[in-house]
Amino acid sequence: MKAAVLEGVKKITIKDVKVPELQDGQIEIKVLVVGVCGSDVHLWKQGKGWNPNQQNDFIMGHEFCGTVTKTRSDKFKVGDRVTFWANLYCGECDMCKKGLEHLCREVNGTNYIGFVCNGAYSEYFVGEAKRAFKLPDNVSDIQAALIDPLMVAYHAVRKSEIKLNQKVLIIGAGIIGQMMAHLVKQAGATYAATTFVNDLKIQKAKEIGDFDEYFDGRKEDIAEQLRNKTNGGFDIVFEAVGLGSTLDLAINSVKPGGKVIVIGNSITPTVQFNMNKLVLNEVQLIGSVSCTRVEFEETIDLISKGIISPENYVTDILPLDKLQTAFERLIDENDPALKMVVKP
Ligand SMILES: [Zn+2]
Ligand SMILES: [Zn+2]
Repeated sequence: MKAAVLEGVKKITIKDVKVPELQDGQIEIKVLVVGVCGSDVHLWKQGKGWNPNQQNDFIMGHEFCGTVTKTRSDKFKVGDRVTFWANLYCGECDMCKKGLEHLCREVNGTNYIGFVCNGAYSEYFVGEAKRAFKLPDNVSDIQAALIDPLMVAYHAVRKSEIKLNQKVLIIGAGIIGQMMAHLVKQAGATYAATTFVNDLKIQKAKEIGDFDEYFDGRKEDIAEQLRNKTNGGFDIVFEAVGLGSTLDLAINSVKPGGKVIVIGNSITPTVQFNMNKLVLNEVQLIGSVSCTRVEFEETIDLISKGIISPENYVTDILPLDKLQTAFERLIDENDPALKMVVKP
């Protein structure tokens, strides 16, 4: 089969590789659509996956759907359209037993399909049937490839326990930030604002219009502007960038007693922020990652019931051969691409 192999630092090569042999409990799918994710860009920059013992050609891709072509499990039949949840939870540990599979002791933020083992930037993908979910007919292939970022947005919004009439700031208007803006409105927020630092990259967000207002994050007095706008601070701030400066802005623009939900993964794990402000204002600082297995299924439901259409956020549909170009465009400050998907 044709596959996009990560061969080195910033180097994807389209190669002919062997389709993995089907084992008991596994299914083989013909991959239909794969979402190109920001975390793929990190791996592309480092030129390898998270598994130091990876033997064969490494293939990324964790946001995908496909049609079952072979099965050695009775969970699915040939022709079923499915998506996989990339989170490789163990199902045995204390967290998994509580239904908190996203906090599984074995996962640790890196144990995902397409990170530690081969993903789906290829014509076929073979994986364990127990990690796959059947797609409703009214969820399109492209929508199904966007369940992964949507589940992150959904889980974060649920963690915020947002209430009617609250004001929300979302720092970072990438796809997850925009999906959160849409979801907080559905959940009863009356005002959702965002900050941006690149005029070009915010264009698509303005076009879709999930936010009520856009603030230029490059301005010196940005925190003050945001507090003034909300009579003393937002009820909830989502930090979706992962920098010390944006976490600091979040703490400085939330109201006393308010919540800061952090979903931005920092490239440098240690960042600086104003801790006194956090303590003296009793700001609640909450981390959020991925989602639970139940929430993953609920995310499929959100799309099926028309609560959100993730297709709106897709700016580019590319053939697999263009994956290298997709990554180059994603790191280009002068490219307005928001979400790209590839069709192998
Ligand atoms: Zn992703
Ligand atoms: Zn576990």
